[in-house]
Amino acid sequence: MPDRILILGGTADAAALATRLVAEGHDVITSLAGRLSTAPVLPGEVRIGGFGGADGLAAFLAVRAITRVVDATHPFAATMSRHARDACAAQGIPLQRLQRPLWGKHPGDRWHMADDAAMAARMAARLGRRIFLTVGANTLGPFTRFGGPFYLVRLIEMPSRLAFPRCRLVLDRGPFRLEGEIALMRRFAIDLLVAKASGGPATEAKIRAARSLGIPVVLVRRP
Ligand code: NAP
Repeated sequence: MPDRILILGGTADAAALATRLVAEGHDVITSLAGRLSTAPVLPGEVRIGGFGGADGLAAFLAVRAITRVVDATHPFAATMSRHARDACAAQGIPLQRLQRPLWGKHPGDRWHMADDAAMAARMAARLGRRIFLTVGANTLGPFTRFGGPFYLVRLIEMPSRLAFPRCRLVLDRGPFRLEGEIALMRRFAIDLLVAKASGGPATEAKIRAARSLGIPVVLVRRP
């Protein structure tokens, strides 16, 4: 029996993996949560939407005769990763995790590590007056409680609302280039970058730009 591989996706890494595995002749299903209004075009089969918890995923694995699972979700998608572990253990199916390398801290980097978004928001309000916020649409809530600073908010899609008294919205998605990130931070006179410690090369340019401009960074630790 050939392998049938389920990739838990929603990341550029997952898309690249699906492309490679399909090109090698594997039978691949990529699963997306469906958070974005348009799904990316991917080789192989694509299914969209939650499974209904770990039990729902376990049932999907059985019904679709999945032989291996690759968890290629974002490092902050902790619930999906936990469900993948539980469902694969229940079905006796091998699970692999595609993990991004953490960004390396360089001498002179002024990194402030936060345990979660609420802590990052408190630190950011203390450290920055003009903040570049790159934590994603689902993590903006705690920052809106601190309305003093100006926020440059970068998201992939237009949010339903943006509850900051002083902000500018930039719609864009990675990979980003160093020169572009430096230009953006200069244009808005940014004095603090806030990011999730996602790691990986696609979004590292903002970290390198902050380093090059001597700007401090508040990083939310991985869950
Ligand atoms: P999460 O909190 O770990 O998952 C919440 C629920 O969403 C899961 O229990 C599952 O619903 C559903 N879900 C998540 N990923 C799924 C997938 N690949 N396929 C099918 N259902 C999925 O996840 P999240 O942080 O909201 O992230 C959602 C998606 O966006 C993930 O695919 C992730 O890779 C991507 N993403 C997340 C971030 C981030 O910062 N969190 C950043 C970039 C991309 P059921 O329980 O019903 O199965």
